[in-house]
Amino acid sequence: MKKLMIILSCLLTLSGCSKRSVEVKVDGHNGPISVKVSVDHSHIESIEYYNHQETLEVVQQAAETMIDAIIANQSLAVDVASGATVTCQAILKGCENALIQLGFHRNQLYQNNDNEYDEIRPSEKQYDVIIVGAGGAGLSAAVMAAREGASVAVLEKMSEPGGNTVRATAMYNCVDDKLQHPLGIYDSEEDFYNETYNGGYQKAKPELVRILTSQADEGKLFLEELGLQFDSVIDNCLAGKIARGHYSLAHNGTDYVQVLWQACNDLGVDFYLNTKANELIMAQDSVIGVEAYRKGETIEFYANNGVVLASGGFGQNVEMRMYYNRNLTGELLCSNAPGATGDGIIMASKIGASLINMEYIELYPMGDSYDGGLRNSIPNVINKGILVNQQGQRFVREDGARDVLSQAILDQKGSYAYSIVDDDFEIFADDRSYLQGLVLMGYVEKANSIDELAHLIDVDADILINTIDQYNQSVALQSDCLGRETLINAIDKPPFYANMKKPTIHHTLGGIEINEMAQVLNQDKQPINGLFAAGEVTGGIHGANRLGGNSFPDMIVFGRIAGKNAALNQ
Ligand code: ADP
Repeated sequence: MKKLMIILSCLLTLSGCSKRSVEVKVDGHNGPISVKVSVDHSHIESIEYYNHQETLEVVQQAAETMIDAIIANQSLAVDVASGATVTCQAILKGCENALIQLGFHRNQLYQNNDNEYDEIRPSEKQYDVIIVGAGGAGLSAAVMAAREGASVAVLEKMSEPGGNTVRATAMYNCVDDKLQHPLGIYDSEEDFYNETYNGGYQKAKPELVRILTSQADEGKLFLEELGLQFDSVIDNCLAGKIARGHYSLAHNGTDYVQVLWQACNDLGVDFYLNTKANELIMAQDSVIGVEAYRKGETIEFYANNGVVLASGGFGQNVEMRMYYNRNLTGELLCSNAPGATGDGIIMASKIGASLINMEYIELYPMGDSYDGGLRNSIPNVINKGILVNQQGQRFVREDGARDVLSQAILDQKGSYAYSIVDDDFEIFADDRSYLQGLVLMGYVEKANSIDELAHLIDVDADILINTIDQYNQSVALQSDCLGRETLINAIDKPPFYANMKKPTIHHTLGGIEINEMAQVLNQDKQPINGLFAAGEVTGGIHGANRLGGNSFPDMIVFGRIAGKNAALNQ
């Protein structure tokens, strides 16, 4: 690739034309698609697709995710989302044809670009703290480091911040007597600790779980101080025993990223977007910086005090996840952002960091069946509804742990399930309008009788009617043959709703091993000087199974610790 880039740069410079575009036509799922690729010298600047008849709501997210990944990696060697495979493959083909017309060689377009910038002399930048990744953990770390008076740079390989944080269902667990007690919910730090540690099958590091559960409330206060407004509702995660989940007003992660981003800007943090950290720079046994690539340039970022890895998990790296669990093939859906490719874990392990719990990769049982996302679910479906398979039968206690639900769904014919509720599904003020939106967009089926619903989702009507009758009896008796304990309401009030769900790869629970100071540990469990980590890039906090609502306090609590300690490190 590097030779190609030099030749291409020379040709383009000689012709005096650095920015160029080519438009091509390719065959998509429903007809032709126009694909336009623009380059600046040898850098792929933008990819657009238009004049097509593809089903926009199905392809848009998948196509944009793929295009972001191509631009970030400057390579066509990217995963194609399984939800819109034909369209994405077509756009990829269009990119290939256009880039060949622009002078690129086909084989080189599919290379892994790790060494592509080797021959360009690096420029250098110096800060007190360098942070890799602009998701929730990296941004929290940046705020705390800057508050300590450190000069801070955040490197983000995508064109915008947010990572998996903006894709999450965004529940924030913490004990909160003020909201819980009026609802008759009695909770404690000890209950929170026990539920987290035991829910993770006691595979987490107890001292990290203790920090998470005892500092989550402080993390929430920190967010509120920065301007994040929380809704007054308290929710429960899938299989959670005690409701302690909070939401921001918009019930999504974008709110969090916005306030953190604003705080970073107010504190003078420098952001380097489209900048991919590639390697940690060492001096003897200490980490002193990060080598990164940015638009055809190698930059060496030197850190006077510390480097924080906050680059997220590896859910989008099929090879890496299959290395740790061979069942997690590319056939499975994935809810993650394209940047979740395990870069930080790879960089840290190259310099001898200890990795922990790598084999524990969480599938979220209720992914959107077409692209693995988390957004288009019937609200409160676990507490208020049931799951049935293609035969119209229940097959698992719906209030079971995430891993149990995921495996049970994968074991059904077609590896999917329908979630079903009646008209009594609402808990929060905007649940009804949200569900109506999903019906209008075609994600959720709505019917006035169970019989009609069965026909819409193509299951045997008599069996489905019988399944729901039996479930309603369980609710009346408060005793369920599958062992379900959350038996709140019968499903008997029309209209009825159904939504197809598939397990989706969601959170990689293992990662870099840290201590209570968020220092990265080496193979002898000693801190590596100058290196800190926080968020999904780390392991040992959730153990083998994550309690829903815990990833947000994880990223905020450990992001804060990592940023502060990196700034104070000498
Ligand atoms: P967390 O919840 O732990 O903050 P996120 O997935 O929200 O994790 O954020 C991680 C961020 O790190 C993403 O925005 C991702 O694009 C970014 N990232 C991943 N690898 C790199 C890298 N090599 N260089 C710079 N940024 C990276």
